[in-house]
Amino acid sequence: MALPKDAITGGCQCGAVRYALEPKPYKIYVCHCLECQKQSASAFGLSMPLKFEDLALEGETAEYVRSTDSGARTRCIFCRQCGTRLYHRSDRSPEFVTIKAGTLDETHSIKPVAHIWVSRKQPWVVLDDDVPAYASQPPDLKGWRDELIGNSGRDK
Ligand SMILES: [Zn+2]
Ligand SMILES: [Zn+2]
Repeated sequence: MALPKDAITGGCQCGAVRYALEPKPYKIYVCHCLECQKQSASAFGLSMPLKFEDLALEGETAEYVRSTDSGARTRCIFCRQCGTRLYHRSDRSPEFVTIKAGTLDETHSIKPVAHIWVSRKQPWVVLDDDVPAYASQPPDLKGWRDELIGNSGRDK
């Protein structure tokens, strides 16, 4: 794996899978939907969308494929040994991935830019008034995510 010196790094719980990201100002949002609660075995998911080409990963992974409400198929990539979910990739836009941001090596500087599906959130999770919150998801989810990624040619 050719790592830029200032790459952003992360990996699974057991260390068998490691990844590096191009150093860019990535944005992270919090998803409180029930799928994310189940997937994370916790209260919410931390999602960091980026271009697939900005991700370099090594180690053995496996995938679980699930269908979404919109009929797309999402590939959910996890460590074969410890099961940590690492990223998601939709068949509908395979040029992008969503990193599960809790796998980053450095998580203390995470400042979410938005909360989605707050209608499903656990009642004890208290949100910061300064951070935009959506009852479900933004009306144009793809456009919204593209904006987070900083993707200008979104229909390429
Ligand atoms: Zn692992
Ligand atoms: Zn979710």
